Amino acid sequence: MDSSIQKYIRRNNTADEVQIQVAEISWLNTHQSETVWVTVKRIPHSERVSEQTLRAIENEILNDEKYFVRCSVCNNLERVGQFPYLAHIAEKNICHTCATSKYGVTFVH
Ligand SMILES: [Zn+2]
Repeated sequence: MDSSIQKYIRRNNTADEVQIQVAEISWLNTHQSETVWVTVKRIPHSERVSEQTLRAIENEILNDEKYFVRCSVCNNLERVGQFPYLAHIAEKNICHTCATSKYGVTFVH
């Protein structure tokens, strides 16, 4: 898993199940954001799934464009909504860093 993405996905173990959660970032304004963990998958302990299966489930979520997009310049995985200004340049998803460094896009804060 990309190490940069680990802060946006986690497992939460409860008494009954393993919950796979992704961070939901809501922007209060351009400077302040709030992170809320949203459960996107529940796996009951009774199913006794292996570590391998859990990783496969996590990878499925990481490849879901509803939650994560890959920057077409640096190939880094980015959480959808991580930045209030996710750039779409020439129909591509470009992360904040690349938009600034490679395309000279200036973000007004
Ligand atoms: Zn990038």
